[in-house]
Amino acid sequence: MSASYPLQSLKAGNWFKLICGASFQDLPAIRTLVLAYALAGADCVDVAADPAVIAAAREALNIAKKLENDQRYQVFSRQRTPWLMVSLNDGEDPHFRKAYFDAQHCPSDCFRPCETICPPRAIVETKQGSFGVLESRCYGCGRCIPVCPYQLVKTHSYVVSPKEMIPLIREMGIDAVEIHTQVGRGNQFKQLWQAIAPWIGHLKLLAISCPDACGLIDYLYYLYEMISPLPIPLIWQTDGRPMSGDIGKGTTHAAIKLAQKVLKAQIPGFVQLAGGTNHHTVSKLREIGLLTSSMSSKLAVSGIAYGSYARSVLSPIVRQLENQSINFNLQLALEDQPNLLFKALKIAESLVLSLKIPDL
Ligand code: SF4
Ligand code: SF4
Repeated sequence: MSASYPLQSLKAGNWFKLICGASFQDLPAIRTLVLAYALAGADCVDVAADPAVIAAAREALNIAKKLENDQRYQVFSRQRTPWLMVSLNDGEDPHFRKAYFDAQHCPSDCFRPCETICPPRAIVETKQGSFGVLESRCYGCGRCIPVCPYQLVKTHSYVVSPKEMIPLIREMGIDAVEIHTQVGRGNQFKQLWQAIAPWIGHLKLLAISCPDACGLIDYLYYLYEMISPLPIPLIWQTDGRPMSGDIGKGTTHAAIKLAQKVLKAQIPGFVQLAGGTNHHTVSKLREIGLLTSSMSSKLAVSGIAYGSYARSVLSPIVRQLENQSINFNLQLALEDQPNLLFKALKIAESLVLSLKIPDL
């Protein structure tokens, strides 16, 4: 029964997806984020296609399920188990990259702007005294690149292998797959699609994420024809300004503009915003009539995905749990700290419910 909730949300236009990050691999942080947003009523959690990350997210979903009868953490009368999604790419993509630099080349008087600007605090000094990028935390936002006065920061990109990911669909209970593509990558998309298509019946949902570019609508129609007939629901994720929602109010405009463009084209499938979404997105969408629970409106988005912003509002909790774990010399879990879990839930809830409850 609970599996139908996410689909109902899509149809009702209030689908909420948490993006943990296609290359974010900080397991304790992922576990905390997934647990808080699952309890708050998220419909989907989107994680890196990495077995350890998937396992951490699945564990958090199981904990959320166990807590469903605990009055303290009840947001809805019944627990809504979110779908677990993994992200793949058909080529180079900022979501699938890691930053690196050789600290030996950093001048000793550098004031380290790279360290300050990094949202997940991936640029750190380790206990062993070395300074650099902690790979598991880096999610490829690229903000450290232009701030380095010596142009020392580089990135390495990677492509997730469908061969390695496909067995995980069944083994690890993955509900949905998202393909990140870009205009002009029809051949690469086709190759990836040919690997996934035989497994599509094991999934509940397919999402295709694409940023804006000249020829976008023709490209999305081309993809639609390639994947049709599709036996499961399809989401077009309009990736406005990737990984930017925590920067400020303005980033939401790019996300909305792109969603409007795709909605206008009326390509079959649900349209869901991403890339620049934050606390201003819902009110802006309501103001211009793009968010509605009315299924009669064709020009309305079906939901919103939150990435950088959803993570940034919970970062004080993630940090507090991390510091406590260091003090106790033991990895503490959010559910073992009821006060902290309650705080995390309230923060996550304010974002989720602003979308789910129209008059909030
Ligand atoms: S600023 Fe972004 S790209 Fe640079 S290390 Fe941090 S997360 Fe990675
Ligand atoms: S800003 Fe550049 S030079 Fe300075 S510490 Fe960071 S990587 Fe090194």
